[in-house]
Amino acid sequence: MQCTETRGNDGHRPCQVSFSQAMLDPMASFGGLYAPADLPRLPEDFLARQLHADYAALASAVLNLYQPDIPAEVLTQALTRYAQFDDAQTPVPLHPLTDNLFINELYHGPTRAFKDIALQPFGALLSHQAAARQEQFLVLAATSGDTGPATLHTFRNCPQVKVVCLYPVGGTSDVQRLQMVTETAPNLCVLGIHGDFDDAQTALKRLLCSDDFQAQLARRNTRLSAANSVNIGRIMFQQVYHIAAYLALVRRGTIRSGDPITINVPSGNFGNALGAYYARRMGLPIDRILIASNQNHVLTDFIRTGRYDLRNCVLVNTHAPAMDILISSNIERLLFDLFGPARTRTLMSALAHERYYALDAGELAQIQAIFTADFATDAEVRACIRDVSEQGYIIDPHTATCFKVQDQADRNLPSVICATAEWTKFSPVLAEALLDEPGLTDAVALHRIAEATNQPVSPQIADIFQRPVQHRAQIMPDAIETAISDFL
Ligand SMILES: *Cc1c(COP(=O)(O)O)cnc(C)c1O
Repeated sequence: MQCTETRGNDGHRPCQVSFSQAMLDPMASFGGLYAPADLPRLPEDFLARQLHADYAALASAVLNLYQPDIPAEVLTQALTRYAQFDDAQTPVPLHPLTDNLFINELYHGPTRAFKDIALQPFGALLSHQAAARQEQFLVLAATSGDTGPATLHTFRNCPQVKVVCLYPVGGTSDVQRLQMVTETAPNLCVLGIHGDFDDAQTALKRLLCSDDFQAQLARRNTRLSAANSVNIGRIMFQQVYHIAAYLALVRRGTIRSGDPITINVPSGNFGNALGAYYARRMGLPIDRILIASNQNHVLTDFIRTGRYDLRNCVLVNTHAPAMDILISSNIERLLFDLFGPARTRTLMSALAHERYYALDAGELAQIQAIFTADFATDAEVRACIRDVSEQGYIIDPHTATCFKVQDQADRNLPSVICATAEWTKFSPVLAEALLDEPGLTDAVALHRIAEATNQPVSPQIADIFQRPVQHRAQIMPDAIETAISDFL
């Protein structure tokens, strides 16, 4: 598999790199990203052959279509990380909500959000590369709440990798924050940033591109990488569960192989949705991809109008904080795939300088041929959590955003909603929605909801309030570089 640059080549970097190079060094020319140079097609008999495969075997088969420069046994070993999920054979179970509506439960990993699905094997691959090259790696992660815990968990005690995780102070749930700041492994550093997720992600991208910072790291024999979905290594694993859901629908007789389905994704940085888009491009019969947002609805506006407009946009904190994002990084890979590197560079540069770009009518039509978008307000999210709970099923606020755009789905096709987090990470919102008790702390809300709904609190979350806090630093964005140097 070769990866190529979304904004074209600057004459200094190689214009194509291998998958593992893109994973180790994720920033491309002109501040762009790496994307697969070619997307493989699913072979004719692929779905039939994988119909009864367990998840790790399916993942291995999908990734091998890309012919990555990863030895087969290393990939196999990385995929054994799914043994930590609730059910090693079926780490991603499909729950039928109605005859035609299914929930792809992506949150059964160690940190109870879908980030584990990609970050667990990704962490194993990166650790292996670092050991094989006898190099030290510094992995930077900016998080709006779920990437942080999952990144810290996957690299816990890994001798060759240090992790610095940046989270917005006040921008995550208590459980999410505690998952990070109670980590004890000595190779992990967690920094609260006074700012929002975009500030943290922008600071991270700046460091990734900074020659000074790289030189400073080189003196410590350390290389820099990133665990955000700017890293193509994560996206590769995010195609697999869409294919797994399709196969589950075939197995249960809801569809026959080849029949179209709808995929509905609560979106922020667009990594999950891009995984669905790549699966569709590979030939998985996905009719449309629905993009759900919260009140930070830049993606909804973009898909409806072709205009990506940040000029009068202010980030608001919502019930679904992992989607409190204005600059959605993986849209860049979609633009690249549809319109090529020159156009992508023009558009992304306009976004950086004018905080605005607009597609032309032909381009917009291409996007609208695939995607439908809508957003849900916090009140709609709460109402949805309540409605769905009446069917005996508990969803988290991110998953709840999907039900509004679901109204626009083709009713003749089965739909798969991606459930991206377990409710336990956002229990105060559930207490407000289900018990009409706003303002409870996580610690109280968790048990109230568990009692009221007869749901267990997963063991990964149950003892989190008892663990001692290890990481207390809260800094301004411009102090990040110094803080990282101190940690190293
Ligand atoms: C990260 C996250 C999202 C957004 O996913 P993207 O791939 O960034 O679009 C949605 N919900 C939850 C719970 C998340 O953790």
